[in-house]
Formats: sequence, C-alpha cells, structure tokens
Amino acid sequence: MTIRMNADDVSDAAALICLWMREAHAAAPGSVVAFTGAGISTESGIPDFRSPGGVWAKNRTVYFDDFCRSAEERHEYWRQKSAAHADFIKARPNVTHTTLAALEHHGTLCGVITQNIDGLHAEAGNASVLELHGTARRLGCLDCDFNDHVDLWVEMFLADNVVPDCPTCGGRLKHATVSFGQSLPEHILQKSVEWSQQCRVFLALGSSLVVEPAASLPRMAAAAGAKLMILNRDQTPLDSHADLVVNASLGEVFTAIRDSM
Ligand SMILES: [Zn+2]
Repeated sequence: MTIRMNADDVSDAAALICLWMREAHAAAPGSVVAFTGAGISTESGIPDFRSPGGVWAKNRTVYFDDFCRSAEERHEYWRQKSAAHADFIKARPNVTHTTLAALEHHGTLCGVITQNIDGLHAEAGNASVLELHGTARRLGCLDCDFNDHVDLWVEMFLADNVVPDCPTCGGRLKHATVSFGQSLPEHILQKSVEWSQQCRVFLALGSSLVVEPAASLPRMAAAAGAKLMILNRDQTPLDSHADLVVNASLGEVFTAIRDSM
C-alpha cells in the first residue's frame, strides 16, 4: 500500500523517512540509496531543462553524431553549453544536497545516483556519486585522453566565439556530458543497478522517473525488497510501486530531516 503525503504533511513525511532510514541503517549501514533528478537543483537556481520555457524549448538539439562530423554543429553545441554555464557557476548546493552529504558521512547513505550534470552533489561533499549523464563541470577530447575543468575553456569561447581545439592533439573538445544519441557510460549504469538491487531504502528525489534508467532503477529496488520513497513536485508513473509518495518541496522536507538528524 502506498502512503501519500503533500505540502501539508512535511514534518510527518520527514519523520517517516528518518524512521525508515534509521531502521535500514540499524540492519545494514550504508543501505540507503538516493536517486536525484532536475527537481533537486531547481532550488539551487538551475532551471529544469524539460519544463516549459526551459533550455530544451529554446535550443535545438545537437545530436552526438552531428557534433562529431560538423564544425557548425560543434559551434552550436558550444554556444548552448556556454550560455548554460552561467547558471552552473552561480549555483550552490541547497539543503537537500548538503543533507545527503551528511547522511553519507554518517554512514547511512551508500551514495547518490544522479541524472543531473551540475556537479552539486560533489560540491556538497558527497564522495560516492554516480553521474549517469556525466558532468558539465569538465570537458574531454574525443580524439585523445585530454580532460580538464571546463571554466577556462568556456571563458575562451565566450571571449572570441571560436570553438577551442584540444591543446594536446588539436582534436574535438566536448563537455563531459552524455549527449543525445550517445549511450550512457556502461560501468556507471552497472553500478547503479547493483546499488538499486542491494539497498534497503531507495529515495527518488526530484525526478519525473520517465526516461531510462530512471524508470527502471526504483522498480528494481522495490522488486528486490527495498522501501521505495518518491519525493517529487508532481506525480510519477511509479507512484503506485512506492511505499511513500510525497508531493511537496524537497527543500522543506529535507530541512525537517536535517533538523531531526
Ligand atoms: Zn586531444
């Protein structure tokens, strides 16, 4: 049976989540897994790219194959990424990120699986993070092993509007994110499946749980016997599989969780 709560039940929701996490920790330390989507970072000022008026509505998609073969497409990609970079460098981890970091330090949380590319979990202090879609904080060369922080390279692009070449081999530099038409990193995906199948509590936070593997991992966790809790602004297709569904602000729920830790 699914327990459903909303913005009126924030303290009850936090109390129940804390209870279930404590029980999981007592049975097996590090057996709580968090899965996060765009909804956790909107409270840090990073727009949800799928929402109306979001980045996807304004920008045309640059597919990976087109990036690889066309200088024009690479320029369009760099234009979009450099515009989005302004949001990333301003953003700071919020209470949900920092509470997840505290839970990891406490030994309760195994780690975070995230769909986000903003790097905020690492910045908050989580050491154990699986970034399914890579990170916009770094870039790499498609033609050799060169990789680097992205900041300086974006500044160079914004200054002269020219796509930079790899300083080592002259090859194609691309943000270390997974583009449309590019497959997810296999080892990250594999590890995510392992965590989901082994955890006792699976917290799905701020994800609409529609795209893969977001649609599968919570289901795997529940099928393996974990308590599934879904916290999201809106309903998700997996709500009926969950033990607890909370449709409320993540920041409010995690402020209450932090205060009761
Ligand atoms: Zn190179």
